[in-house]
Amino acid sequence: MSAQSAASRYGKSLAGCMHHARVAGDEPLQWTALHAPVLVLNASYEPINVCAARRAVVLVLKGVAMMEEANGHYLHAACIAMHVPSVIRLLEYRHIPHQTRALSRKNILLRDRNTCQYCGKILAAGELTLDHVIPRSRGGASTWENLVACCHSCNRRKGNLLPHESSMKLMREPRAFNLHTSRHIMRMMGRSDSKWRKYLFY
Ligand SMILES: [Zn+2]
Repeated sequence: MSAQSAASRYGKSLAGCMHHARVAGDEPLQWTALHAPVLVLNASYEPINVCAARRAVVLVLKGVAMMEEANGHYLHAACIAMHVPSVIRLLEYRHIPHQTRALSRKNILLRDRNTCQYCGKILAAGELTLDHVIPRSRGGASTWENLVACCHSCNRRKGNLLPHESSMKLMREPRAFNLHTSRHIMRMMGRSDSKWRKYLFY
């Protein structure tokens, strides 16, 4: 048996073990403790993710991560007894690629918050279309920088004109949608957990 399949088999038996895991305390507390969010740090201590306590425990038991902070609950299962983590850290550094969302109609509308970028109306997705700022007929590409959410009436008005020719101004410069959001979300969650704070606010 290869090392990899041994590891995956070990992981599976741990997951099975976790199935019957109990956290000391009353019922609602048990559920909450195993589903509580856990901050995941890279080996470099850089915050990279948030996962459920249950998953964090499996990562610790598999030797992939170590516990940096406990959340105050104690876990009892057939094969283990340990503190439930609040912060874990990966033992091996993981390269995190720049997360860039795929260019799609859905993601353009998400970036532009369902707002027509010419008149500022907020509309349902079905009432919006995508406008090529530099029209395709004039060499405009289908890119993050050249596509914006647009209502049908502005789209008709603009036609094949460039924004300055139609005197229609964009509300803001369209940009690629990078996910800096995940760090923002971690910070929002970290505000309520003092154990996370020192890893998030620096
Ligand atoms: Zn409009």
